[in-house]
Amino acid sequence: MNIFDMTIHELHTELKSKRISSVEATKALLERIKSVEPQVGSFITVTPEQALATAAVADKRIAEGECNLLTGIPLALKDIFLTEGIRTTCGSRILDNFIPPYSATSWEKLRDRGAVLLGKLNQDEFAMGSSNESSAFGVTRNPWNTAHIPGGSSGGSAAAVAASEAIATLGTDTGGSIRQPASHCGCVGLKPTYGRVSRYGVIAYASSLDQVGPLTRDVADCATMLEAIAGHDPKDSTSVDTAVPDYTASLKNGVKGLKIGLPKEYFIAGLDPDVQSAMDAAIETYRRLGAEFVDITLPHTDYAVATYYLIATAEASSNLARYDGVRFGHRAEADGLLDMYTRSRSEGFGVEVKRRIMLGTYALSSGYYDAYYVKAQKVRTLIMNDFIKAFADVDVMLTPVAPTPAFKIGEKVNDPLQMYLSDIFTIPVNLAGTCALSLPAGFSASGLPIGLQLIGKPFGEEDLLRAGYAFEQATEWHTRKATI
Ligand code: GLN
Repeated sequence: MNIFDMTIHELHTELKSKRISSVEATKALLERIKSVEPQVGSFITVTPEQALATAAVADKRIAEGECNLLTGIPLALKDIFLTEGIRTTCGSRILDNFIPPYSATSWEKLRDRGAVLLGKLNQDEFAMGSSNESSAFGVTRNPWNTAHIPGGSSGGSAAAVAASEAIATLGTDTGGSIRQPASHCGCVGLKPTYGRVSRYGVIAYASSLDQVGPLTRDVADCATMLEAIAGHDPKDSTSVDTAVPDYTASLKNGVKGLKIGLPKEYFIAGLDPDVQSAMDAAIETYRRLGAEFVDITLPHTDYAVATYYLIATAEASSNLARYDGVRFGHRAEADGLLDMYTRSRSEGFGVEVKRRIMLGTYALSSGYYDAYYVKAQKVRTLIMNDFIKAFADVDVMLTPVAPTPAFKIGEKVNDPLQMYLSDIFTIPVNLAGTCALSLPAGFSASGLPIGLQLIGKPFGEEDLLRAGYAFEQATEWHTRKATI
């Protein structure tokens, strides 16, 4: 087996028994990146020297008998995570030359366990997008079919796992940005509950919705990554101080008697037939494994996309006010202070980011604030209440991740509304603040991966992972590899 195709647990076994060294594994991944990057474009920055140096340190630790599951494992991060001394662009021209003075807590936790950083991954600019086409550093291509998008905004994070350019990666999810690319690229992606993972050092898009999570080859790896990054962080006041469960320990508990809800609003007439049949097959699999299905309703689903595009853009317009050319990032040649602000922002931001800033500023402006922003907050509460009510009767919910498999590059760039609608099944989860897992569940007739979404109760990640693991044991979708 190729080193670059291994899961975390497979490579860990090799590292621990010293059959493979971390330097060897890191070299294998760096070679792989070199050979497939011209076709895929997952990376914005590759850091070979640092990677090999950290790998050598990891090998020393292993030689001294210290080898946790992540020691010496080569990983990569979405370019939204601050990495001390390593360029961090967030997919934007405005941060083209930004070298952060400190690192994100989630990355520090992985690094402290001995993980090796291969580099920083491509993404939609400021995580605004569903296709990776809004990056200032070019599109990332879907490793299953390079004419198609990998999903977004963590498109590079999903494509890198699918193209075997990293053993696992981290992404962020504000409205679906981990789950939708995971679904389109055939990997496992988890959006944890809001507050489960620290957001410190993660460039903010919409702070009440953003959450950090892993993209991996299987559910066991997902549990390992979550265990490493979860937990309270005094530097993020929204991170919750509850104990982190041993997610790996409960993986094998099965789904007998598990109550799975099917929200009727998610199984609509316009659903792609290949997606529908993958969902039907998944329901059958879970039935066979002893789960029980319950029909449920989330009545305010129709309002989720509109609500999200008011709240997310409002928060973004405020968060992105800091990019003004004064302290960091791009500064334009200008004639006076105001001119400098205007030019730096005009030159630094791309079209989609400008559209969002304008939408958000409008929604927050006096005279419109009550009609749009306050109204959206109220509807958000209704959506949240839908979930609370439905979870009184079920343990998890099963839905599609996206209404269609990955669309073609260029297909929706000129139609923002169509692009926004592709997140219709993922957005409500962020508004409700709960957790959800995206799992490989089949392929379209044209060979593109299709994902299944399991939605959990707040802090119900254990249920998601054990249900995901049971599905994986009963199917072989996650073992298929893109032939890039
Ligand atoms: N596609 C959604 C957006 O553009 C979600 C992005 C995300 O989760 N970061 O806002």
